[in-house]
Amino acid sequence: MNKEEKKEYNRNYYIKYRKKNEETTKKYYQDNKEERRNYQKEYSEKNKEKIKKYNQSLSGKKAHTKGQWKFIGLDMDNFEEVYQRYLDTTHCDKCNVLLTTGEHCKTTKCMDHCHYTNKFRRVLCLSCNFKEKRQPKYNEDIEVFLARTHREQNLAEHNIKENF
Ligand SMILES: [Zn+2]
Repeated sequence: MNKEEKKEYNRNYYIKYRKKNEETTKKYYQDNKEERRNYQKEYSEKNKEKIKKYNQSLSGKKAHTKGQWKFIGLDMDNFEEVYQRYLDTTHCDKCNVLLTTGEHCKTTKCMDHCHYTNKFRRVLCLSCNFKEKRQPKYNEDIEVFLARTHREQNLAEHNIKENF
């Protein structure tokens, strides 16, 4: 087996195993619904502080965001890169306002996505994100999304204005 074949073999093995594993887990949860619920309840009561600490940690926040994005059906293929881009973004991709996290307000950091393709579009402030929802046609390539910086974005918008 050469390097490429081995890579392909490992990939297939992973996919196969993942699927089987997911099915087994699903079945287990279905068969033990009541016990699982009780166990989780007990666990969360016993470990309140620990859970609170985890939720506020970087990995806790990441897991929470991942769960949210998955829940609303976003395309998770590039999650790691997209999440990094999301973290690195400090200013709104559209209006350039300084983004905030925590309390919900006009400048809260939001992940804008296309409601038709479920692809990520931009990192926006809540205010811009609300307006973008009415523009379903706007979309961009994931590569562009990951590579684009605010400066490029501002230049692009400036050029658009100049051309008009
Ligand atoms: Zn904005």
